[in-house]
Amino acid sequence: MPELPEVETIKRGLKRKLIGQKLKNIEIFDSNYLLKNKVKNLNIIVGEKLSSIKRKGKYIIFFFEKNLLLFHLGLTGYFLFIEKNELDKGKKHIILIFEFEKDRLGYFDIRKFGKIKKVKVEEFSTLKELKKLGKDALEINLDEFKSIFWQRNRGVKNLLMDQKVISGLGNIYVNELLFRAKINPFKKSRDLREEEIERLFFQMKSLLGEAIDLKGSSIKNYIDTEGKKGEFQKTFLVYGKKGFSCPRCGNDLKYQKIAQRGTFYCPKCQSL
Ligand SMILES: [Zn+2]
Repeated sequence: MPELPEVETIKRGLKRKLIGQKLKNIEIFDSNYLLKNKVKNLNIIVGEKLSSIKRKGKYIIFFFEKNLLLFHLGLTGYFLFIEKNELDKGKKHIILIFEFEKDRLGYFDIRKFGKIKKVKVEEFSTLKELKKLGKDALEINLDEFKSIFWQRNRGVKNLLMDQKVISGLGNIYVNELLFRAKINPFKKSRDLREEEIERLFFQMKSLLGEAIDLKGSSIKNYIDTEGKKGEFQKTFLVYGKKGFSCPRCGNDLKYQKIAQRGTFYCPKCQSL
């Protein structure tokens, strides 16, 4: 699933080309997808200018003049700029094409777990999907971050992955983050010392910054709006390294599932 660095990369790619362009047409290829998402009259947006694109957690929001579109890419959703008549068999998972004045943007979803919603711009602040999100991991400050841990007593890994608590992080980045910060994924949040929370905070900011610089991580399907893979997976220290040894101390890494998600850690560097 695309996490914050991937969604941020996508947002930047979209912004670079599309801001200020008028939407000229929407070509719908998979009307069942829209039906399933209860999106009606999508074409009402045609003729409106795209004024901005924002990201919150793993959501992307397209602000047109009167309407906005909210997207969650789910497991395998992606946006791709496509040339005219460039729809070969590799693009079979296409849902729709937004035709702007200068660019054509396709929205694809392989497994179709993504979400799309259309509302009026003035309804932005009432969107329940965004209201229930915790602070964005890029925006949260140190004091807010500290209070997350002290107000609850849950396993640190689960807590960081809970979008209602802090938004944007998923399994990949939380595994990498806990290793970098030398914190055991099973540790209870209230048992973290203040210096450990601070370490976690600064490691989180630098991890996300580095991952965005490398345009995210491509594990399975992720590509950016130009069809390019991210590079950050090449720098993973623990994620997916089942059977490997710890890059820091040489001990065997441990693999275990927490809430059905693969958890990779070094029991020595990340002791309880
Ligand atoms: Zn180690």
